[in-house]
Amino acid sequence: MATKLWRLDSVIDFQLTDEQIALRDKARRFALEDMLPVAAQYDQSGEFPRPVIEKAHKLGLMNPSIPKEYGGPGYGALESVLVVEEMAAACAGMTTSIYVNDLGARPIILGGTEEQKRTWLPPLTEKLRFISFATSEAAMGSDVAGIQTSYERAGTDYVINGNEFWITNGDYADVFVIFARQKGTKRHEGLSAFVVPRDTPGLSTGKPLRKLGHRASDTGAVTLRNVHVPADNLLGREGTGFLLAMMTFMYTRPGIGAMATGLARSAMEYAINYAKQRDAFEHKISSFQAIQDMVADMYARIEAMRLLTWKAAWQVDHGQDANVASSCAKLVGAEDAMRIVTDALQIYGGKGYLEQYPIQKLFRDAKLYAIYEGTSQIQRYVISRYLFKEYEPILKRF
Ligand SMILES: Cc1cc2nc3c(=O)[nH]c(=O)nc-3n(C[C@H](O)[C@H](O)[C@H](O)COP(=O)(O)OP(=O)(O)OC[C@H]3O[C@@H](n4cnc5c(N)ncnc54)[C@H](O)[C@@H]3O)c2cc1C
Repeated sequence: MATKLWRLDSVIDFQLTDEQIALRDKARRFALEDMLPVAAQYDQSGEFPRPVIEKAHKLGLMNPSIPKEYGGPGYGALESVLVVEEMAAACAGMTTSIYVNDLGARPIILGGTEEQKRTWLPPLTEKLRFISFATSEAAMGSDVAGIQTSYERAGTDYVINGNEFWITNGDYADVFVIFARQKGTKRHEGLSAFVVPRDTPGLSTGKPLRKLGHRASDTGAVTLRNVHVPADNLLGREGTGFLLAMMTFMYTRPGIGAMATGLARSAMEYAINYAKQRDAFEHKISSFQAIQDMVADMYARIEAMRLLTWKAAWQVDHGQDANVASSCAKLVGAEDAMRIVTDALQIYGGKGYLEQYPIQKLFRDAKLYAIYEGTSQIQRYVISRYLFKEYEPILKRF
């Protein structure tokens, strides 16, 4: 019975522990005191918020999932989502640049040998260092099995060639996890993952890409020209790269759901505050049923987003197959955050469209959640594949 638990509705104790509450409060304080006051400024300048990230690192709010034996706090997925919800409520872009170390480190945690973990994980916790995760190229993003970046064996080394695109923190990363295809292979079977330090000859990065939102997060291109890495830098066995990438997403997608929840929560709070002050037709607009309906829907959706995120994180922490739950958390989070911030902007009326008010930033930032780490279409693909192939209907007769 116990082994089949994942097939039943999981039971969650909604009471956070004292330690979890303290961690969430620490993240909330940092978000309100160190991120929020400078969020608009970094959004406008597009500058990389290194001092803010430096402080997150110092406070132990970065690299939450690095295990204790490698110098990290060893938090579970639930602790991670508590932290990133608070941060994204203050600035989505900074949060992405902080959280992406978790995405970069995860393939090492999952697929690395003991020696690889001892080599690559402790440096991330000792001082502020960035690790980036690279599957995407300009010609492909959703279709991870279609990676064109290639590798071949050359004596004791592997040689990698290709062009990665869209790489978060690419311009600042000290180390990359690069996914590449063995020359001459097709699709999933030929993919492998390598740890590649930034100073490896042949690796270069382009100019930061200018974006609609998440401007405080760096996004760049990475070029690899005859990049030699020792065989020791291969993660797992050759050909396991696709699985490693998908397993990584299972761990990190609840975090995107949590970021979407944090952003949506702030959009709702701005909207409520504005509605209480704004007069129209000789009444506060908060007295209009249409406005009340919008904020009620926002609150209900945020509750649902958080529950899906916590459930996915709980399944991850209990060693269950959380793939579908993670996709649900990311899909619903991304889509509802966009809906909520659209309604919040509507409540602001014309002012919502002005740069001097905060909603336009949230509106621009929210869109990314439906794109990176698998678009909403890809999350639906994951969920529908499960429904058509594995889901056991309760109604046995139709
Ligand atoms: C700001 C930013 C940061 C990023 N950071 C990183 C990073 O750190 N590392 C990294 O590797 N990548 C990163 N990415 C890349 C991101 O993961 C991809 O952009 C994303 O996966 C989509 O890929 P694409 O842009 O090539 O779109 P495409 O894959 O070309 O998709 C285009 C459209 O077609 C749809 N589509 C594609 N295939 C299907 C299908 N089978 N069924 C239905 N619809 C489909 C998509 O949903 C989308 O709407 C980042 C992207 C951005 C914008």
